[in-house]
Amino acid sequence: MRPRYVLAGMSHETNTFSPQPTTIDKFCPLSSNGVLLERDAAAAALGGTKTPFGGFYDMLVERDADLVIPLAAGAMPSGKVTDDAFEEMAGRITDAASTGPDAMFLALHGAMVTETHEDAEGELLRRIRSIAPDMPIAVSLDFHLGMSPDLCSNATVVTGYRTYPHIDTYETSQRACSTLLRALDGEVDPVISWGVIPLMTNMLRQTPLHQPMKDIMDRAIEAEASGEVLTASVFGGFPLSDISHTGLSVIITSDGDKTTGDALRDELLELAWERRADFVFDFEPMASSVARAASIAVGPVVLADHGDNCGAGGITDVMSVLEEVIAQGLDDVVAGPYCDAETVRVCLDAGVGAEVTVELGGKVDMPAIGLPAKSMTLSGRVAAITDGRFLVEGPMGTGTTTELGDTVLIESDHADVLVCSSPLEPTDLGFYTHIGIDPTARKYLLIKSRQHFRAVFEPIAAEIIPVAGPGVCSEDYSQRTFEHIRHPMYPMDLDATMDVIGN
Ligand SMILES: [Zn+2]
Repeated sequence: MRPRYVLAGMSHETNTFSPQPTTIDKFCPLSSNGVLLERDAAAAALGGTKTPFGGFYDMLVERDADLVIPLAAGAMPSGKVTDDAFEEMAGRITDAASTGPDAMFLALHGAMVTETHEDAEGELLRRIRSIAPDMPIAVSLDFHLGMSPDLCSNATVVTGYRTYPHIDTYETSQRACSTLLRALDGEVDPVISWGVIPLMTNMLRQTPLHQPMKDIMDRAIEAEASGEVLTASVFGGFPLSDISHTGLSVIITSDGDKTTGDALRDELLELAWERRADFVFDFEPMASSVARAASIAVGPVVLADHGDNCGAGGITDVMSVLEEVIAQGLDDVVAGPYCDAETVRVCLDAGVGAEVTVELGGKVDMPAIGLPAKSMTLSGRVAAITDGRFLVEGPMGTGTTTELGDTVLIESDHADVLVCSSPLEPTDLGFYTHIGIDPTARKYLLIKSRQHFRAVFEPIAAEIIPVAGPGVCSEDYSQRTFEHIRHPMYPMDLDATMDVIGN
């Protein structure tokens, strides 16, 4: 009899400092008319795409098996997921588990926090395991997460992204998928070793492209490639979430020999702990960064405002950096996209070619960091209007369709400003080219992103300058009150010791 597999995707990175709750409609792409994707629609939208779901799907359809898809849902990072949304999504997956499949493949994130559960993925795995005690489960995860006992003890194989920008999401799922398929074929016997240490890394110091993370990730990759273990993943953690299980973590799957996995886990965690001071980021004041940009002669200069980046839960409507850029007299600037549906509506009503004066951005208060909403007045000409849809050709999410909603370009004296209706991080040049902007021909590109923009903007940039704008993604962690993280936690507690939680 053909085996029956369940494939599901449920992804959210929760910034617990964001004031915007994440409701179920946020998990429905604009093109789905507000419906969660499942079955054929999920396969059509994501099969063949360079996404976590696509990685599993493409490998599983090659298998002589029945494939059940109860859910493929993902929302942009934002505030806590509502209980209603979580129960709807988790319910679809546990219902599928209760039908007795031979295995389950899950593309998750690892940083979802709901109104009730600070460890939503762990809660999901715990529920699945209570229904199907012996069912093999493969899980792929983002690099930014909180690793938890419920997640690790209830899965069979777990893998995580090894890049940041995340350009290996597809391969990450394929690593988990192929390992579990080998286990189902009786070739290997996966055993998990995992651990998390009290080290809150700064997101601007996390990328495996550079030290201090490079050596750590390279060792994990080498251990997996050589066959020392089945899979090895290191996770930078997600410091914008106030949860008890935050920290840098490692998860290893070894072949029937936990001793080997434990040894590699300890080696990787000890290496990270030795380098803990290097994971601290000393940021430059916003005005100094903009002044530095102003002194550069040749563009494009990318100004990356990382404090209000929707890719980590930012609102995408804090205008402080654009105001500073204009105040310091930078010219030939393209800025955005900012998310402001009200301003888009004004421009749509006015039409292309019309002169408008808008109160741009600043629609949302951020009480968790004491930042009130503040818009800026912008006058200019509506130069272009689009539906905000384009096919991603860059390395992040290749083949997926970006949906910014109705999008407008306002030409003003000092800056051409892009305004959209649905927040998305600019991870593809299509954000600009789809509305007629050639980013290579402009002096300054002011975007809201921390790291992911580098996948496509680094190759075209003469210079990149991170700018510490205000927002719920600010790297200044002293702005927020952490009530739930464990202590001692480095660098908040400089006397912290390497106290490993794991198995
Ligand atoms: Zn991530």
